[in-house]
Amino acid sequence: MVNEFLQTTNPKIFACGDIIEKQLPKLTPVATFEGQYVARKVTKELQEAIKYPVIPTIVYGSPKIATVGVTKVEDDRQTVTVTQEMTDWFTYHRVNEPLAKAKFVFNKENFLIGASVLSEQADELIDFLAIAINQQLTKRIVDQWIFGYPTLASDLPYLLK
Ligand SMILES: Cc1cc2nc3c(=O)[nH]c(=O)nc-3n(C[C@H](O)[C@H](O)[C@H](O)COP(=O)(O)OP(=O)(O)OC[C@H]3O[C@@H](n4cnc5c(N)ncnc54)[C@H](O)[C@@H]3O)c2cc1C
Repeated sequence: MVNEFLQTTNPKIFACGDIIEKQLPKLTPVATFEGQYVARKVTKELQEAIKYPVIPTIVYGSPKIATVGVTKVEDDRQTVTVTQEMTDWFTYHRVNEPLAKAKFVFNKENFLIGASVLSEQADELIDFLAIAINQQLTKRIVDQWIFGYPTLASDLPYLLK
C-alpha cells in the first residue's frame, strides 16, 4: 500500500511497479513512469503527488484490441460515443486488413477522452490516440499538420472532433 507520493507506511521507503496495490494496469511503462517519479521525488526535483496520464492497454491477439482512457460510458449526457468502421479506409485496405473498427468517447467540449480499437494496427493507433487525449488534440489542431498518407496518423483528422 502506498500513498499518492508512492511512499509506503515508512515515508522514507517508496514503492513502484507491479508490487503496488493499484487499480491501474500493471505494465512496464507504468512501472517506468513510477520509477522516474520516485527518482524526481527523492531528489526533491518535484513535490507534488504522482499524476498519471492515460494508459494504453493492448491485447496482442489477431486482430489486436487496444484501449485507452474512458471506455465505459456511465453518463450519456456528459459524453458522445462514436463508432467508426475503418476497414475500407486506405490505411487498412493497402495492407489487406480484413477488419478495422474503433469506438471513441468524447466529452461535452468535444475532446477525446477514450478509445477502443480492434485491428492488426490497434497497438500503433492507440498510442496516437493516447497523445490526442493527453494533449487535448482536436480536428482543428491536426488539420494544420500534413502526415504521410495513407497512415494511421493521417486518419487522425477523421477520428477527432
Ligand atoms: C507474461 C507477461 C507478459 C507481459 N507482457 C507485457 C507487455 O507486453 N507489455 C507491458 O507493458 N507489460 C507486460 N507485462 C507486465 C510487465 O512485465 C510488468 O508490469 C513489469 O515487468 C513490472 O516491472 P517491475 O519492475 O515492477 O517488476 P519486475 O519486472 O517483475 O521486476 C521485479 C524484479 O525484482 C526481483 N525480485 C523479486 N523479489 C526479490 C527479492 N526478494 N530480492 C531481490 N529481487 C527480487 C525479480 O526477480 C525481478 O527481477 C507482462 C507480464 C507478464 C507476467
